[in-house]
Amino acid sequence: MQPLYHKHSLKVFNSLSRKKEAFTPIKEGYVGLYVCGPTVYSNVHLGNCRTFMSFDTIYRYLLHLGYKVRYVRNITDAGHLENDADAGEDKIAKKAKLEQIEPMEVVQKYTVDFHRTLEHFNLLPPSIEPTATGHIIEQIEIIKEILDKGFAYEVNGSVYFDVQKFNESNDYGKLSGRSIEDMVANTRALQGQSEKKNPQDFALWKKAEPTHIMRWPSPWGDGFPGWHIECTAMSTKYLGEQFDIHGGGMDLKFPHHECEIAQAEASKGKSPVNYWLHANMLTLNGKKMSKSTDNNIYPSELFSGENKLFSKPFSAAVVRFFMLQAHYTSVLDLSEEALDAAEKGYFRLLESFSTLEGLSSKEGIENDPTIEQWVNRCYEAMNDDFNTPILIAQLFEGVKIINLINDQKKTVSSEDLVLISQTMRTFFFDVLGLFDSRNSDAKQEGQLKGLVELLLKERSEARARKDFQRSDEIRDAIEALGIKLKDTKDGTTFSLS
Ligand code: AMP
Ligand code: ZN
Repeated sequence: MQPLYHKHSLKVFNSLSRKKEAFTPIKEGYVGLYVCGPTVYSNVHLGNCRTFMSFDTIYRYLLHLGYKVRYVRNITDAGHLENDADAGEDKIAKKAKLEQIEPMEVVQKYTVDFHRTLEHFNLLPPSIEPTATGHIIEQIEIIKEILDKGFAYEVNGSVYFDVQKFNESNDYGKLSGRSIEDMVANTRALQGQSEKKNPQDFALWKKAEPTHIMRWPSPWGDGFPGWHIECTAMSTKYLGEQFDIHGGGMDLKFPHHECEIAQAEASKGKSPVNYWLHANMLTLNGKKMSKSTDNNIYPSELFSGENKLFSKPFSAAVVRFFMLQAHYTSVLDLSEEALDAAEKGYFRLLESFSTLEGLSSKEGIENDPTIEQWVNRCYEAMNDDFNTPILIAQLFEGVKIINLINDQKKTVSSEDLVLISQTMRTFFFDVLGLFDSRNSDAKQEGQLKGLVELLLKERSEARARKDFQRSDEIRDAIEALGIKLKDTKDGTTFSLS
């Protein structure tokens, strides 16, 4: 069977051209996708999750179309300084000092949190998840190339990218739409406070002061890489000097992605990426959710209901559904009303799967052309720059068809019934990555209850043989897990919450 991408023409909004363009991969059938990963110095908030979820859905749709996708999403574990600047403390080193642990312990702790959180939302793991610290040699090699080509200069053990020099032959600012003249006009002269030639220049390598704990040897002395060079090094290594799609949050367009383009063009002489895709921000109270301010909420707080913002808990599947009800390039505001509405919609779709199971087709009737038209509209939605809100609207149209058949107001052929069922399932589960939260929560609770009951039986046996030490041990162990026990005259009861 021919892969689906032959049949469907995908269009994507390219931030570089600011236009929707037909998507044509460099090598037919293969897609190279790079997405900037998290800086692992704190737990990921829901805003971060939105961006990763957007690219997970894009990845899923590309896979569904039959592309062989190499999806690279890095872990930033060095070089990202406070305020995204060229001076100041490394975010990870700062956290390590604060918590009095090794920087790599910080990295481990928050990488684990990142993975666990994304698993709750049913994100597929990337094909490769490289770390900045695992690619210091590759970063140094690219910096050497940029120096050799004359687009960087060394000062006192640090190496800076020469933006003005680069702009003489290339276009610095083409992604973010900024002109270098404006940048120059808007920055004050440095008056000798900085070793950079111009304020627009950015660090490729920074000399490590004696107190800086994250340091590596280099041709310029002990130091650490600048924030932007890691993504150039890792994307080039795993996807080549030119690849198909580069993604990240809108806030990374400048300076991070602008600098990535400059570094790649300066070292390799080619534009690195064909399609730049940017996911828009999740806001809370109308303001961007961010790690550095208190304007954020963590997924675990939403799942448990333990937060000051919402009156009840919301499951990961409902949150994913809520996120997908907005297009990935639009700003989305998190609110209780919006989550409530998403919850209702999500359950309506879920119920339709149970209804589907009870439907029967009619022998000997023709296929209905409107069913195939509906399937095509589902594809058209996703082919139009991954328009998940339109797709979801189409899935609700599917629910209407399902209900008509169930109410015996419509009859369908067996082929059409299979088509309806397959289309609903494929888009809901495989493409949108949604799942049945009721089942998984209820199943886990059932298993947990079974285990607690087993332990309580052992406890009452211990009591019966007057082994109170063992019976207390069992009670303490259960209560230490947050499970409350209550001894009554009829036996011991427990509550999981
Ligand atoms: P960071 O760990 O800060 O580098 O961020 C990881 C990813 O989350 C980046 O792609 C950011 O653009 C993205 N991000 C940060 N804040 C938000 C937000 N409020 N909404 C959506 N994405 C965000
Ligand atoms: Zn990056």
